[in-house]
Amino acid sequence: MAEELGVKFHYNVDIKGFQLNSGKIVAVETNKGTFTADRYVAALGSFTPHLVKGLGLNVPIYPVKGYSITIPIIDESRAPVSTILDETYKIAITRLGDRIRVGGMAEVTDYATFWSGLRPMTPDSTPIIGATKYDNLYINAGHGTLGWTMSAGSARVMADLISGKKPDIDTSDLGLSRYK
Ligand SMILES: Cc1cc2nc3c(=O)[nH]c(=O)nc-3n(C[C@H](O)[C@H](O)[C@H](O)COP(=O)(O)OP(=O)(O)OC[C@H]3O[C@@H](n4cnc5c(N)ncnc54)[C@H](O)[C@@H]3O)c2cc1C
Repeated sequence: MAEELGVKFHYNVDIKGFQLNSGKIVAVETNKGTFTADRYVAALGSFTPHLVKGLGLNVPIYPVKGYSITIPIIDESRAPVSTILDETYKIAITRLGDRIRVGGMAEVTDYATFWSGLRPMTPDSTPIIGATKYDNLYINAGHGTLGWTMSAGSARVMADLISGKKPDIDTSDLGLSRYK
């Protein structure tokens, strides 16, 4: 859908750093050459701090590893029908048709479909969305456990900020400046 709207994706491109001139970002350096734009958004989840550290930006986002397994239901009568949240162990158990997905911290073996990922957490559990000290560099990262849920809303806020429109929500406490 994004491509239909004119978005161009570049896959398997490693960002190495930025080129600066007079306090502005003029290019992004990658293993596939340099990319230029009017505005740049650092949105690399847990990897965002590493990318912008060389610019003198201290971004407090920390990786919190989480796991997910998806397993087949073997006894329909004993399977949950809706999502269960275990607040003590921070685990969500979700019904997916004839399968169950368990997300959180878990040790798994055998037949389960398994993956793990890094949740980009901030100290106050709120994402960092906003401008930086560089005129044309923005940050949209640190969404922790809710990055998929907040992705469209965050992108909308980011687009409004970049194009000088007033976002629908108050963004005064969403930016990097709140940590000063
Ligand atoms: C087990 C688990 C379950 C989850 N369940 C949910 C859920 O149910 N609902 C929900 O809303 N959220 C969930 N989350 C959280 C969600 O996955 C994250 O909040 C979200 O992925 C953050 O998105 P992001 O794009 O900011 O960062 P990421 O998804 O981490 O993406 C960052 C990308 O940047 C790339 N990258 C890093 N460095 C470079 C570089 N130098 N050059 C080029 N690319 C680079 C990385 O490879 C990566 O692809 C879950 C997370 C985990 C671990």
